[in-house]
Amino acid sequence: MRQTLIAGNWKMNMTTAEAENFADELLKLNPKKNGEVLICPPFTDLYALGKKLAGSGIKLGAQNVFAEDSGAYTGEISPAMLLDLGVEYVIIGHSERRQIFNESNELINKKLLKLQEKNLKPILCIGETLEEREAGREYDLVKSQLSACLKDVNANKLKDLVIAYEPIWAIGTGRSASANDAEAICKFIRQELEKNFGDLAKEIRILYGGSVKPATINDIIAKENIDGALVGGASLKAADFAKLVAYEV
Ligand code: PEP
Repeated sequence: MRQTLIAGNWKMNMTTAEAENFADELLKLNPKKNGEVLICPPFTDLYALGKKLAGSGIKLGAQNVFAEDSGAYTGEISPAMLLDLGVEYVIIGHSERRQIFNESNELINKKLLKLQEKNLKPILCIGETLEEREAGREYDLVKSQLSACLKDVNANKLKDLVIAYEPIWAIGTGRSASANDAEAICKFIRQELEKNFGDLAKEIRILYGGSVKPATINDIIAKENIDGALVGGASLKAADFAKLVAYEV
C-alpha cells in the first residue's frame, strides 16, 4: 500500500518572516494529516521553516538541486547542503525549470542519480505542453521524458522515487486536468514503470499537479493510480493547505 503525499511547492514566494507566519498558522489549525505532508519552500526559508516544523511531522523539501557535490558552481546548491538543513525530498524537472532555465532531460537525469547517491528522495516532474496535448502527443512525451530522466536509475532506491505528472497547461492556470484525464496518464506512467522495473514499480508514488485546490483534491486522490498531489498556488495559504492535507476519500 503506497502512502499518499501532499507536497506544497511555494516556488519563488515567501520571505522568511512570511514562511514563519505560515507555519504558525498551519500548526494552529493542526489539520488531520493523511499520509505524508511536505513543504518545498525557497532555499532561503529552509532553515527557519525546519525549526518551526520540527516535531510536527510535516517534512521539508527543496525545489531544485545541482548535480555535483561541491565546487565552482556559482549560485547552485548541493545535496549535502540540503541534507544539512533536514531536507528529505527534492523536486527536479519542474516545467518552470525546463522552460525558463532550459533544463534538459539529460541534466535532470544527472540530478536524479546524484539524489539517489546521497539518499535524498527525488520528485521527478514530467508533463506535456498544451500544444503537445492538442496534437495527441501527451503519452509519447511522457514516455520519452520518463525513459530519459530515469536512465541508469538505481532500482534498489525506486521506493524513494516520486513521479509528479504535471501537464504544463494546468500549472498556475486554474485549468486543472479532470480527475479521469489525470488518472489515465498516471495509469499509463505506472504501466511504463512496470515494463521497466517490474513489481518494484508498484512502490513508486505518482502525484498529479496542476491547479489542485481544496475543492478538487478529494476526486483526484480517490483515483487508483494517483498517490497524492504537488500543489503550487493553493499551498501558499495555510488555511487552503490545511484543507488539502485533510483530504477525504
Ligand atoms: C506546481 O507548481 O507544481 C503546480 C502544480 O502549481 P499550481 O498548483 O499553482 O498549478
